[in-house]
Amino acid sequence: MKKKAYQKPAITKLQVGFLRDKSSTLSSLVRKEIDGVPVKDLLRRYGSPLFVFSEKRLREQIRYARRIFESQYPRVEFSWSYKTNYLDAICRIFHQEGATAEVVSDFEYEKARRLGVPGEKIIFNGPYKPKNILRRAVEEGARINADSLDEILDLEEIASEQGRKLSIGLRINMDTGIYPRWDRFGFNLESGEVLQVAQRIAAGGKLEVVGLHCHQGTFILEPEAYARATEKLLTLARQLEEKFGWNIEYLDLGGGFPSRNRLKGVYLPPEVAVPPLADYAERIGRVLLSRLQPGEYPLLILESGRALVDEAGFLLTTVRAIKRLPTGQRAYVLDAGVNLLFTAFWYSLKVELGDEILGPPEPCVLYGPLCMNIDVVEESILLPPLPRETPLVISPVGAYNITQWMQFITYRPPVVLITEEGHPEIIRKAETLEDIVRLENLPEHLR
Ligand SMILES: *Cc1c(COP(=O)(O)O)cnc(C)c1O
Repeated sequence: MKKKAYQKPAITKLQVGFLRDKSSTLSSLVRKEIDGVPVKDLLRRYGSPLFVFSEKRLREQIRYARRIFESQYPRVEFSWSYKTNYLDAICRIFHQEGATAEVVSDFEYEKARRLGVPGEKIIFNGPYKPKNILRRAVEEGARINADSLDEILDLEEIASEQGRKLSIGLRINMDTGIYPRWDRFGFNLESGEVLQVAQRIAAGGKLEVVGLHCHQGTFILEPEAYARATEKLLTLARQLEEKFGWNIEYLDLGGGFPSRNRLKGVYLPPEVAVPPLADYAERIGRVLLSRLQPGEYPLLILESGRALVDEAGFLLTTVRAIKRLPTGQRAYVLDAGVNLLFTAFWYSLKVELGDEILGPPEPCVLYGPLCMNIDVVEESILLPPLPRETPLVISPVGAYNITQWMQFITYRPPVVLITEEGHPEIIRKAETLEDIVRLENLPEHLR
């Protein structure tokens, strides 16, 4: 991670709101509305807890990302990472903005198709692609990035069935200076595994490699790592083209770009710790343009997930009980916990008050509603004394929470999208008992 001298932020207003734990970072204090819609109105209308997404931010973010990457390199495709957030409405917005679909399972493939995404606009990654869905993806013209030798054998079999040569991509893992290395996906570069596999593919005569893919990890705070990945993929592409006569049509750098979120234990606020997306685009573009001649530019694919969606998502929650722990620390029980906020395990999410509350701040702990000791939303946060029913706004929560939330102990709440015109629309209804028991079956003898 980039080291920067720590500068203590100037603190001017202390009377309202709170300081975030001991790092003395003044957080924004109060958020009474999202895109002009009052938090209180949303809670009154839809109940608490409630996920809220901003269509405006979603569109702005992908347009911004496209603009900065296209300003560095002429051929760019964004492919929306379904597992980051696969709500239909969210995917549809990104598809409307020109993104293809990046899927990693049969479920995600089928969800993209159901939403009307044609096969050729789908990129199929993931370490396990069941044979029947792999066959369907081949038939429908999806781009497939192979992850293992076994999958290559499956693809060869499908090629034989279809009596034609298939074009595929290879997932590559490599040392880009990011640790721990995600070396379980695809084929390793430095060990020579990639070349061995390429040799094997060429000898089989049923497949040809037309793309290289590398997803280094997630929340990568080092733009230079992408420059290294680009360098290495370009060198590999040249090698493969010379050795096997293939034409590498695309380089896919995966996702991993950070959102403005704060990893636990990181002292600096995201505004300081997280490099702007433009830095990543600049590093990648510089390598590509310096190593390639116009006319031989491969398509650059980016599968950015969290950087596009995280900051467009908010969770509204309400203080339901107030406690004093034996340690003397004040604690609040909220109606949303780690069942809805999977990312709270790794990130110190921003907590804002949905209402102005005056009073001396003191360190507090925020618990969720689960009957589990691990259900902690925030271990230490300075807050003024909050009355019962105080609304809180937690962000950024747009990435990975809606897909990894748990149906555990409580119902999952509704999700609302605030349209560009400022109207809230339900994009996922609140779960009911009926939804949850629908798949259960009571055997005859237990009835
Ligand atoms: C999860 C995933 C992504 C998206 O990652 P982010 O860190 O959210 O940008 C992209 N590509 C692949 C292959 C993934 O598994």
